[in-house]
Amino acid sequence: MSTRAAREATTAFFTTELSETDPLMRGAIEREEHRQQRQLELLAPKNYTSRATREAFRSIVSFTTIEGYPGKRYHAGMDNLDVIENLARDRAKELFKCRYANVQPHSGTQANQAVFFALLQPGDTVLSMSLDAGGHLSHGLRSNFSGRYFTVVSYGIDPETGLIDYDQLTDLARQHRPKLVITGGSSYPRAVDFARLRAVCDEIGAYLLADIAHFAGLVAAGVHPSPFPHTHVVTSTTNKNLRGPRGGLILTDDPELGRKLDSAIFPGVQGGPLPEFIAARAVAFGEALEPAFTEYAQAVLDNARRLGSVLQKRGYDIVTGGTDTPIVMVDLRRHGLTGDLAERSLENAGIPCNKNLVPGDPQKPSVTSGLRFGTSAVTTRGLRDPELRILAGLVADVLDGLIHQPNHVTKIEAEVRTQVEELASRFPIYQH
Ligand SMILES: *Cc1c(COP(=O)(O)O)cnc(C)c1O
Repeated sequence: MSTRAAREATTAFFTTELSETDPLMRGAIEREEHRQQRQLELLAPKNYTSRATREAFRSIVSFTTIEGYPGKRYHAGMDNLDVIENLARDRAKELFKCRYANVQPHSGTQANQAVFFALLQPGDTVLSMSLDAGGHLSHGLRSNFSGRYFTVVSYGIDPETGLIDYDQLTDLARQHRPKLVITGGSSYPRAVDFARLRAVCDEIGAYLLADIAHFAGLVAAGVHPSPFPHTHVVTSTTNKNLRGPRGGLILTDDPELGRKLDSAIFPGVQGGPLPEFIAARAVAFGEALEPAFTEYAQAVLDNARRLGSVLQKRGYDIVTGGTDTPIVMVDLRRHGLTGDLAERSLENAGIPCNKNLVPGDPQKPSVTSGLRFGTSAVTTRGLRDPELRILAGLVADVLDGLIHQPNHVTKIEAEVRTQVEELASRFPIYQH
């Protein structure tokens, strides 16, 4: 290739748009943009980041390989990246009022993996919430690293109340003497008694890990109890109600443990982190330190409680009768509906959510008797109490249709979809 041809190819490489080079991909992305605009997503993990946070993760810093930590890198040219990572770490510490933060985990699962790597030896015993009770796969699913390399004992919830059975948990801890006790899960809607769990851990000499992925934003804003000073280690994702980009976070107030956790992430379970995500986490943490974020977090909680109370008034059972988090769990057993069927119908109506096992669920995980809702995303879009009442009513309309008018479901879904699209159009994302 001549120099001139090479230069032209280079120019094209840096300037040609995706719609020209890969219309198939551009088309798929555009359809996804339209879907997200038109639907009102009540999926619990779903959220959007600010325009400013997106700017950081679309920035040029993604084209950098960084290994190690600020001041201790394995490559040259890291000065700016050190500033970026220190901003993220310092803001995380300020947000959660603790002395150590690691902002490098690629995901919540890898944050948990690093905690196992730092604190345990293969074969050690871990006590965590069972998956059917709402635990997370990285807390001991057999086919996950956690279940494969460690001995996992599970505690559950009381099928009557839907609350953690603390007496059972204490008995199991005394009997099995785990090295690590994990609290937190993906579908547990209530505040956990961290102090009580710490007392159990102190009695048997175990570490306590709180995985706060589903309510981290509420803790940061002070509208949900903090796991500190009770837990040794806290893990989270940054993309649920912390409103950051995807990724994980590890926190502790013990600098000695912090050193172990740093080397567990790198070089223990990860190589280089994703610098654009570290930059975006720093921006999101900065936003979470602002007073406006407290209003947001309080509204997420108020919206979740409103969703639950409207559904309850319409005759649906809410697991534990309410929520202290963004999560609302609906038990459909009394209506003879499966979570699977309800999820599909709500998706057709423009309200994505997910089927979920409920306490004592007789159905398989692929069918279930429940639905899990979360309000982090619709609250970011600006929906507040008046709109939540409408949206909750629309959810109930779809469920009522499935129960009472099974022959007219398609028509009801279409009617609700029209109303959802109208409501969604008043709360656009990423538009001015
Ligand atoms: C979402 C979540 C995670 C992390 O999920 P990743 O997909 O690995 O980021 C971990 N723990 C809990 C309790 C969660 O809800």
